[in-house]
Amino acid sequence: MLRTEYPADAAACLPLVAAALQVYWTHMAAAPELAGLPKLDVGGVCPCCGSLPVASVIRSAGDAEGLRYLHCSMCNTEWNMVRVQCPACERTERVSYRHIDGSSGAARAECCEDCGGYLKLFHQDKDPLLDPVADDLATLALDVLVDEAGFARAGPNPLFIPGGDAGA
Ligand SMILES: [Zn+2]
Ligand SMILES: [Zn+2]
Repeated sequence: MLRTEYPADAAACLPLVAAALQVYWTHMAAAPELAGLPKLDVGGVCPCCGSLPVASVIRSAGDAEGLRYLHCSMCNTEWNMVRVQCPACERTERVSYRHIDGSSGAARAECCEDCGGYLKLFHQDKDPLLDPVADDLATLALDVLVDEAGFARAGPNPLFIPGGDAGA
């Protein structure tokens, strides 16, 4: 799980392992001495535990209003990243946004045609109570839409690992 290797024959128990790890990792990441960590040399991973992000959030309140934060798929740490930049390859030229027709627009997919990756972007101003991990699961239709358009997820949701060969 921590190496993002998801054996298909263990798919049924992976969400339970992931949920337990998230609780423990989040507990460790909340230690006061870990506040304000600098970014790692490797782009696009959590500065606290090195895991991939599950999604991005655009904050709607306080000093962080309008800023984008990536949300760690494992320890729930959030870290700032400029907007309109691919979280996976950090390029900016061919980033576009897709959403489900008729939806509130709170959930969009930030798609990068350079690396073929996408990650969801949640707009807190459209839904102040949104949760990046839970709302990622609640918006699977958006994954289907961008998957059909040829994009692949740039970060996992450890609580939902598809079985078969789609786990990578
Ligand atoms: Zn983390
Ligand atoms: Zn990219």
